[in-house]
Formats: sequence, C-alpha cells, structure tokens
Amino acid sequence: MKFPIYLDYNATAPTDPRVVEAMMPYFTQTYGNAASRNHQFGWEAEQAVEKARDLLGETIGGGGREIVLTSGATESNNLAILGAADFYKEKGRHIITSPIEHKAVIDPCQALEQRGYDVTFLDVDDDGCISLEQLEKSIRPDTILVSLMAGNNEIGTLNPLEEIGKITRKHGVLFHTDATQAVGKIPLDVEQMNIDLLSFTAHKMYGPKGVGALYVRRKRPRVRLSPIMFGGGHERGMRSGTLNVPGIVGFAKALELCRDEMESEAERQTALRERLHQRLQAELDHIKLNGHPTQRLPNNLNVSFGYVEGESLIMGISDIAVSSGSACTSASLEPSYVLRALGVGDDLAHSSIRFGVGRFTTEEEIDYTADKMIFAVKRLRDMSPLYEMVQEGIDLSTVNWTPH
Ligand SMILES: *Cc1c(COP(=O)(O)O)cnc(C)c1O
Repeated sequence: MKFPIYLDYNATAPTDPRVVEAMMPYFTQTYGNAASRNHQFGWEAEQAVEKARDLLGETIGGGGREIVLTSGATESNNLAILGAADFYKEKGRHIITSPIEHKAVIDPCQALEQRGYDVTFLDVDDDGCISLEQLEKSIRPDTILVSLMAGNNEIGTLNPLEEIGKITRKHGVLFHTDATQAVGKIPLDVEQMNIDLLSFTAHKMYGPKGVGALYVRRKRPRVRLSPIMFGGGHERGMRSGTLNVPGIVGFAKALELCRDEMESEAERQTALRERLHQRLQAELDHIKLNGHPTQRLPNNLNVSFGYVEGESLIMGISDIAVSSGSACTSASLEPSYVLRALGVGDDLAHSSIRFGVGRFTTEEEIDYTADKMIFAVKRLRDMSPLYEMVQEGIDLSTVNWTPH
C-alpha cells in the first residue's frame, strides 16, 4: 500500500495515465489554435476538438453541437444560471434551486437575488431529498429555470432527474443540472430526462483539471444564453477564449474510459463503500450515515461519529486523505451547510467524514481505513467524559451543565 491513502475522489481524481497519454501529442505536435482557419496546425487542433466534442455530447445523450467547452463545472454552472437569467429576463426573474447545491450554483443564484431576481430554495429532508410536489407547486408564471444537481458532492444523494424533467417540461421551464459528480458514474440521458442544461468537469472523472463543459439543448426547446465572458466569439458566442486543446482531448478520453467501465466500476466501488460502512457499523456505536442509504453516488460514503471531535479525528487518521464536514470552507469553523440543511446538529456535522472511493481504491486500502477509523474513534471516546456518561445511561439533554 502507498501512503497516504487517497479517499477524496469527490474532491478530485488523479488523471488516468491513459488520459495523459492521449493528451501528450497536443502539447508539442498538434499545438495549433483550434480557431486558426488558415493552416494545418489550426485544422488539426480543430478536428481533435470536434471529435472530443462529439464524444462528450453523445455520451450524455446529446450531440457535439450542444457542447460549450469551459474551464470546469464552476464556470459551466455560472454560464448556465447567469446566462439563462439574463437571456430570459423579459420572460421572468424567478429561479428554483435547493440549499444543498454546490457553491458554484448557490452563489450565482444569490448574486441574481442581489440584482432583483427571486430565488426559491426548496426544502430537503433528512436524506437530502427534495419533494417533487413542492417543486411543482413552486413553479410560477415568471419561473425561468430550475437548477438541481444530479448527485450531491458531500452526501452523495441523487436527485430524481427524470421526474424533475417531466415537471419542468410540462411547465415550459428550463432544467439545469450540475451533474459534475454523476457523469461517467451513473447513466444519464439528456433526452430521456428532459435536461436542457448540464454541467460537468473532467477532473472528477480522471481527466485533467481546468476543463469542463456545459450541455446546451439546441432543439425542443432551443436554449439561448447570454455570454458571461466576451471576446473572440468562440463556442458560438457563448464562451470566448482560446480552447484548451490538450485538456479537451483528455476530457473526452476520460469520459470514454468512464463510460466503458461504468457498470463494473459502479458495482466495485459500491461494494468497497459498503464494506467500509459495514465495518464501521459493526464495531462502533453512535454513528450516523449522511445522505440517502441507497439513492446515492456509487463512490460516496459520509458518516458522522458521535462523541468525537472532528479535528481530532482527522488528526488521528493523518495517513488517510478524506474530507470533513467542518473543514470544507477551510478558514471557517462553520459546519457544512449541506449537513446543516439536512438538520444534522452542529456536533455531528463537525465530526462527519466524507469518504470518496475511486478507480484506484483497493480492498486493502478500505480495510486499513476501517481499522484506522475504528481505532481512532475508540481512542477519542476513551478520553471523552461525554461518551462515558452516555455509556452510563445518562441522558445528556437532561444534564444541568451550569456550575453550582
Ligand atoms: C467539483 C464540483 C464542482 C466544481 O467543479 P470545478 O470543475 O472544480 O469548477 C461543481 N459542482 C459539483 C457538484 C462538484 O462536485
């Protein structure tokens, strides 16, 4: 085994060596600007980009001409939300989203609120699920966009995209989904699911960092967006800037590999995740699974450990790279806003750990992680007067903590 063990695949993934290999010629040999129309260097780069574009579009059930290449999912989300809000502002200024979206959705929505738009944040239940009934009831004549993610990056919960798409289509409202965690991991089809705008990024699927895409539906209906970046008019005017040719080639190669290995990898990674969860459950009491027990991303496990302090726990497992519910927005001591929206108390939110397994995770690493976690939690609890009281059957909520 190599240390530290990487279990943070929901944050990013290493670039697959097969992807790096596919990218290499586009740095030193086929290095033309894909927008250069006057020579072979440009034509070859453009050809590579168009081939990649087709693969990206077709893998999600669309076409290459519906793909706008960007710098990543943050940009794709901003373009989808700010771009649609501006283009359709005469039709209405109401947007529906949820409180557990990635910040790259929430922040542009809040920026729009500042500019006079109205944003409805749907409720989520304990598992992070929205209510389809509430969604439908929230749609108004001035609603232009519903933005709901495919799979949650912290807790793994999946949204029922097909059911959401039926509702948005019925009411003639655009449907954007941030599918960054889902593309290449679970089957997605923009036609079957009536998705109008879909964001995704290469680095969460073993591609390079800094390249992503926004699917923009071209027919039934034709979706229009105002650009958020101005310049040479690349990407049909929706996203100016010289294309990252090696990155785009790597992005397509990465998605192709994910697509071809999706079924077996989803099964293998789910088994690894379940193995870890079952070991923890078998040997530790007072632990809580965050997110939906079954409707979740194959590679995500999020668990809160009662009666331990989050930072101490992270220090106790320093040879394992995971994320905690308290360290997300590093500088702040605020617990995860996602767990908070689910109604998880501050203590359990602070002591939550997100385990993200991936293509290179082995059973051996999972077993080591389980052992280490169990050891660290037990050791911290041995030092915890609170845990001792709970073991003695004292109900902590009845304790008067004020000094006499
Ligand atoms: C990682 C992530 C993003 C941001 O993607 P970048 O390509 O890093 O900008 C957006 N949404 C979700 C759900 C993510 O997991």
